[in-house]
Amino acid sequence: MKVTFPHLGNAYIAIEALLRGLGHEPIAPPPTTRHTLELGSLHSPGELCLPFKIVLGNMLEGLELGADSVLMIGGWGPCRLGYYGEIQRILLEALGKRVEFITLEVPRGSYATYFQRFRKLAAARSAKALLHGARLSWAKLTALEGLEELALKARPREQISGAASRYLQEQLARLREAETVHEVQQIVEEAEVGFRAIMGPERAHLLRVGLLGEIYTVVESFANLGVEERLGELGVEVVRTISLREWVENHIFRKALGLYSLRPLRRLASGYLSGFIGGHGLESVARSVALARQNLDGIVHILPLSCMPEIVARGILPRLSKDEQIPILSLVVDEHMGESGFQTRLEAFVDLLQRRVDALGKQRSACLSGN
Ligand code: SF4
Repeated sequence: MKVTFPHLGNAYIAIEALLRGLGHEPIAPPPTTRHTLELGSLHSPGELCLPFKIVLGNMLEGLELGADSVLMIGGWGPCRLGYYGEIQRILLEALGKRVEFITLEVPRGSYATYFQRFRKLAAARSAKALLHGARLSWAKLTALEGLEELALKARPREQISGAASRYLQEQLARLREAETVHEVQQIVEEAEVGFRAIMGPERAHLLRVGLLGEIYTVVESFANLGVEERLGELGVEVVRTISLREWVENHIFRKALGLYSLRPLRRLASGYLSGFIGGHGLESVARSVALARQNLDGIVHILPLSCMPEIVARGILPRLSKDEQIPILSLVVDEHMGESGFQTRLEAFVDLLQRRVDALGKQRSACLSGN
């Protein structure tokens, strides 16, 4: 099968390796652009959230490149992700697209259906080929997140503006071409040295800001208007709280085996939120508490307009910000979001954090000198 799939950050690198391992031809959609969003919005019900529209746009662009099948992830719980795949399948059908639509989701009761779907995907391949594809894909997913982490550290310390982002793109392109796990490991080792060379001397107090919110908008740079790059360029080190690798481990493997528990998140969020509200709502609250206790300078919370779980979290964050004494900026993104307004809000937030850190520093020195 010629399989296309929606973008989710740089995950396409790992998905391509997985699909090849399963014996299919991956058709990655072109990088997400304004055109992708317009295409998706044109064919989506207006009230659906931003990720739905971009994802549908990706699918349509992938089908234009010759794909005959679509791979999508599903979910269940109070969030709308659970019925995304089904609506998208119906919309594609209504547009006259004859496609095989495969939705991967955590099984609910019927493991037989789950394995049927997997068998459909696993084409006629030897166990050895399947294993190689799975290992390579996992190694690539781990590596690409490792490279992104290195870039987050390098950006606010870079000596030449934009060097870390350019270097990251070069390494991701190499990673995409890698054919063995050994090659993948080599790329990461070389990149550790490469990123170090980009950085200048350590600054006295570099601002550190945690990034959290709805998973798609945190990970997909088109949807978040490149928030990580923008903060990095403003001299801020971004601490990510969402990892796709962790998501796959928890929501695909551990949940299927009954080993995933929300208890640690509930414990952190206690006093603010006790139940699961779908999406990453509980995580956003719990991780805000965790970040405040790690002495970060601030938190950026990003969410799509009309995302129910994150709207609940957003209602809680002002109190949490006061209790834990950490500034939190909630940024709502939608298809009408303008870049200049977004940039101004980030700059104002960074400015506020810097003034707060300077004031705290002065207070501390005054205490030490006994004044
Ligand atoms: S978490 Fe929010 S944005 Fe994401 S699918 Fe659910 S409702 Fe939509």
